[in-house]
Amino acid sequence: MKTIGLIGGMSWESTATYYRLINEAVRLQRGGLHSAEIAMRSLDFTRVVALQKAGRWDDAGTLLGEAGAGLARSGAACVLICTNTMHLVAEPVARMSGVPLIDIIDETALVLRADGRRRPLLLATRYTMEHGFYAERMARHGIEVVVPDCDARGTVHDVIFDELCQGRIRDISRTRYLAIIEAARAQGVDSVILGCTEISLLIDPAKLPLPGYDSTAIHANAAVRFALADELEQAA
Ligand code: GLU
Repeated sequence: MKTIGLIGGMSWESTATYYRLINEAVRLQRGGLHSAEIAMRSLDFTRVVALQKAGRWDDAGTLLGEAGAGLARSGAACVLICTNTMHLVAEPVARMSGVPLIDIIDETALVLRADGRRRPLLLATRYTMEHGFYAERMARHGIEVVVPDCDARGTVHDVIFDELCQGRIRDISRTRYLAIIEAARAQGVDSVILGCTEISLLIDPAKLPLPGYDSTAIHANAAVRFALADELEQAA
């Protein structure tokens, strides 16, 4: 089993989900007392948020890239950036880490494509919905991402930072998210991407009026496939 490197803390609420999902998947596949080999670097999220707000993406890339390089030195065979937003700096992080970076956007796209989805609604931070890096990467896979209108984007973003990243789960916010999904359904989207790693703390992707895709679970599963690839090949 290869060691999975996690760059986490963005926020730790979702990094905890990654840790649980990765270990559950390894137990499911290998049984007994098996658990995942994980190396983690968990950052203080306020440092990252300050760089986001200032638009200092180069500095953010260096911060996460140094974290990735440290994980590689400590034996990680791959790295995951445990947030969609910070895939804005995936390129420098991959370069500085020197080990494969398992990209959350590519992995999500592959799952959508396998299910024949082409026009998903993206729920995410403003950075992810508005900057362009996410939609552009999805487009490479033939997927046209749709984002909510400006007000709704503000609601989705504020709930992420003011509530979910601080461990607050509120019914009123769930209702707001569901209303946004309903409005998008009326406009012809064929699915919903939970494109922020905390959103599954608020809404269950299996209980939406449209097929839901949880980026956290997809990313965690991709990491486990990577870590167990040799063993899975031998067993096949
Ligand atoms: N975890 C969130 C995401 O997946 C937001 C936190 C961040 O800004 O990195 O985008």
